[in-house]
Amino acid sequence: MTDRRTIRCPRCRQETPWQDNPFRPFCSQKCQLVDLGRWAQEEYKVPGQKLMEPDNLLEFPNDNN
Ligand SMILES: [Zn+2]
Repeated sequence: MTDRRTIRCPRCRQETPWQDNPFRPFCSQKCQLVDLGRWAQEEYKVPGQKLMEPDNLLEFPNDNN
């Protein structure tokens, strides 16, 4: 049986399948990393130590205003 449920990525709000999605509840590794990065930055404020740069990962193709 196939689970065809879809979820909406909490970061980019794109619909994404629940099954076979290693990055759920996100649509992709990019969104997952952005969210984890933000969480880590807020949770552990370590001066001078960059885990990642979330701003550089925020390049969504559907951002066409
Ligand atoms: Zn996403």
